[in-house]
Amino acid sequence: MYKPVIGLEVHAELKTKTKMFCDSLNDPDEKHPNINVCPICMGHPGTLPVINMAAIEKVITAGLALNCKIAEDTFFERKNYFYPDLPKGYQISQYQKPLCYEGYLNLQPTTNNSQSKKIRITRIHLEEDAGRLYHLPDKNYSLVDYNRAGVPLMELVTEPDFENGDQVKRFAEELQLIWRYLEVSDANMEKGQMRIEVNISLTNPDGSWGTKVEIKNINSVKFAADAVDYEIKRQRELLESGEKIKQETRGWDEFKKQSFSQRSKEEAHDYRYFPEPDLPPIRIANGRASPATGGPPTLFSAEKIRSEMPELPQQRRERFVRQYGLPGHDVEMFTVNKPLGDYFEHVASELLSFDRLDHLKKPDPEHQGRLLKLASNYVITELKRMADSVGADPADTKISPEMFADLVVRVFHSEVSSSGAQTVLKEMFATGFSPGQIIKEKNLEQVSNVEDLNSAVAKVITDNPKAVEDFKAGKEASIRFLVGMAMRETKGKANPQVVEGILKGMLK
Ligand code: ADP
Ligand code: MG
Repeated sequence: MYKPVIGLEVHAELKTKTKMFCDSLNDPDEKHPNINVCPICMGHPGTLPVINMAAIEKVITAGLALNCKIAEDTFFERKNYFYPDLPKGYQISQYQKPLCYEGYLNLQPTTNNSQSKKIRITRIHLEEDAGRLYHLPDKNYSLVDYNRAGVPLMELVTEPDFENGDQVKRFAEELQLIWRYLEVSDANMEKGQMRIEVNISLTNPDGSWGTKVEIKNINSVKFAADAVDYEIKRQRELLESGEKIKQETRGWDEFKKQSFSQRSKEEAHDYRYFPEPDLPPIRIANGRASPATGGPPTLFSAEKIRSEMPELPQQRRERFVRQYGLPGHDVEMFTVNKPLGDYFEHVASELLSFDRLDHLKKPDPEHQGRLLKLASNYVITELKRMADSVGADPADTKISPEMFADLVVRVFHSEVSSSGAQTVLKEMFATGFSPGQIIKEKNLEQVSNVEDLNSAVAKVITDNPKAVEDFKAGKEASIRFLVGMAMRETKGKANPQVVEGILKGMLK
């Protein structure tokens, strides 16, 4: 009856070398306060801003990836307000004409039953970040760090299309992934590089929209989802008990898992926006408008930027399914963890071109599919664990994709058991030696040949009459014990499946 209506405002700091309007460094990891500052970002009188072209290009890239239209003519405006984190007394922003507008992002259905869902994007504009204030609890003053003042910041606003916290989470995570793929932003919420504000209301019983509440100061994607679900419940309970929703800004207490009132929404701010007189307007060839005559020069081409755009996460998902036939879980892992997926692709290309497959007279897709899946399992579990343990990218470990593929093929052909493979991997990781060399040195070849195993199995049968009796009397589990004894007899080198086959044959 009360349907949730939810929209987001997402800020993200751009990954550029320098700030938006000067050549001070944009270094999110600078620990010393007020190092990356200059007269321009400090707003000294007489200084003039200069547009950072790389920042504009990144926002256009982000917009294209999110199916936005790109403005043909746009300009910066001054948003005036007084606060100590703002050296100039105004923020250079965009108001009337955002760089990107009318886009959307389709949330893909996920395995845990969530449906696909289209979220419309109202606009993405470019502005500059403010400084950081530190309010000291026991002091009657605050400190300010201007390293962040003037850092390029994009603001994305969505239509109120979300229905619940899960959709907000999926949207925010996909945004992060897209922006990281494009190197537009690192979008790390803990570092404040990405900030989400959620707007939530419930529809009135007649279907019209209700009063909205805005929640700020959310430090992770999960908290954004939690905040949404909490706020829906809070508003519903108020409405059901006949109370009204106050229009206000609320904060999120991640420990109590509650939103709390911060301030009631005063009358709309009057920011006295006006065009920034110190910056030229911007013209972009967007492929739709006819070539401009006169006016400012065209410095950007949306089509050129589009043609240079790298593969996007969703394109990668579809390609991994098409090219390697992997299941959804593996594909998602290789999309979210790009270095791991890149490593897998290396291994896969080795596998598909390996001479060792030459016994296959013609390529057997079923066989290839199983081989790729085996490789995927080993990359996702073993390689990932080892790389993570030293905080390295898989590509930076001593195990080359060629050698990794070599090992996978040996496991596939039962030349080495899966427990033997663990030993080999550990050794490869430590030394960078090839699996062939390690298997030989450590005497790890798995014996799968029936003739070579017959005598060991016969000995196990003679040595363990009780288990043999039990098995013959119908106790199926005894076979596991006998297989285990045969593994011990062969010092772990026997292929357990082959041993089980021989045992069953002999005990028939
Ligand atoms: P404001 O001027 O208060 O900032 P905007 O119109 O700019 O409001 O919208 C800000 C965000 O709030 C957008 O993401 C928009 O989708 C969302 N929003 C607008 N109206 C509602 C509503 N009634 N309920 C929930 N979200 C809303
Ligand atoms: Mg707003």
